[in-house]
Amino acid sequence: MINVNSPYFNPERETMSRQQIEALQLERLKQAVRHCLTNDFYQKKFEEAGITADDIQSLADVRKLPFTTKQDLRESYPFGMACVPLRDCVRLHSSSGTTGNPTVILHTQKDLDEWANQVARNLWMVGLRPDDVFQNSSGYGMFTGGLGFQYGAERLGMLTVPAAAGNSLRQIKFIKDFGTTAIHAIPSYVTRLYEVMKEQGVDPRRDTKLKVLAIGAEPHSEEQRQRIEEMMGVKAYNSFGMSEMCGPGVGFECKEQNGLHFWEDYYIVEIVDPETLEPVPDGEIGELVLTTLCREAMPLLRYRTRDLTRVLGRSCPCGRNHIRLDRMRGRSDDMIVLRGVNIFPIQVEKILMQFPELGNNYLITLVTEDNNDQMIIEVELAEPTDNYSLIENLAKEIRHRVGDEILLKPRVRIVAKGTLPVSEGKAVRVVDKRKVYQ
Ligand code: ADP
Ligand code: ZN
Repeated sequence: MINVNSPYFNPERETMSRQQIEALQLERLKQAVRHCLTNDFYQKKFEEAGITADDIQSLADVRKLPFTTKQDLRESYPFGMACVPLRDCVRLHSSSGTTGNPTVILHTQKDLDEWANQVARNLWMVGLRPDDVFQNSSGYGMFTGGLGFQYGAERLGMLTVPAAAGNSLRQIKFIKDFGTTAIHAIPSYVTRLYEVMKEQGVDPRRDTKLKVLAIGAEPHSEEQRQRIEEMMGVKAYNSFGMSEMCGPGVGFECKEQNGLHFWEDYYIVEIVDPETLEPVPDGEIGELVLTTLCREAMPLLRYRTRDLTRVLGRSCPCGRNHIRLDRMRGRSDDMIVLRGVNIFPIQVEKILMQFPELGNNYLITLVTEDNNDQMIIEVELAEPTDNYSLIENLAKEIRHRVGDEILLKPRVRIVAKGTLPVSEGKAVRVVDKRKVYQ
């Protein structure tokens, strides 16, 4: 029986000491490696690297293992990296595959059970209990944010409202009628939901029972999170996941909101330099590399996520000693290289969100004019105004402040609310229209 008064869903695992975590990881890593070697793909990789399962004697030996990449998943599409017979699998999730083959992740029933446990652990950590009502605004289907949160919230024992994506009026009706206390949404959708609430005269503080938001699946700045908290009048916790690692549940903030706890009983976390692939010291930004420790159907060894982050610590006032990572700055492929300068969209967002006159929607367009590459930032106003000198001054100030941050002066266009496109799923923040010279 779960003790509803405990701050932990799984006290034994969540409060392990570092020593206990590492001992468990080594034991599980050895098993995971042996399990992977039942598959041709890994056998070949190990042969190429000149290693065997016996080479894994300490946790540091994880570095001897070959990396795996999205490319490996694509090349082995659909089932080449499965480590159990297909008859033992009960579900698959697949990415959209806009560039080349999609990727497929298979799950056994045990994989799905463990995934639900991870999600339940996260939701419990931020104070949700079986009395809560959980509404999920993620698409259900191949996108893991739907079924992933669904089974996790059920595992915790909450009443779940699988509202799925879009249809804000219906979402708001459900929130009010069913007494929804917690919502999972991508950050760009929360701001849209709030706009519709405002139009409908619904005040989330006065008219709803909301107490927790889980926001994730796309990069967002601390400034955007704070805006969301002020709008909705509740805490918004950062949730990190990716299909390759199951989906949501990999890392989540606790009530301290001091970084994402990554669950090290399920994953080995490494941060490496994306060029040299050598580990970077704690506190330095690098690429997140994850090894699954419990997966049956499709374990992944040293998977290069392309997400960039850094280690913040390995202890926390909440009593959990699982590694804490900084919010993701984006994937290495989201990085804009403009006139030789490396820029992450989130750096621009961070500045925009500091202006209360500005709304939440913005778009960065890269263009080539007179053989020069330029950045144009379009950002919506929070409220309509015909005060043109205010708009002009705002544009100037943004140009100046963003210029200081990214070392290039962008062109800034302030536009009316509702002008910029809104995407159905994850927000599109950058459009690259530059000419490519050979
Ligand atoms: P897709 O690859 O189609 O976007 P996924 O749902 O697997 O599908 O996306 C996982 C990716 O989403 C992560 O690798 C990361 O880049 C991003 N992501 C997920 N959660 C967060 C988060 N909380 N903060 C920033 N980025 C996130
Ligand atoms: Zn904590």
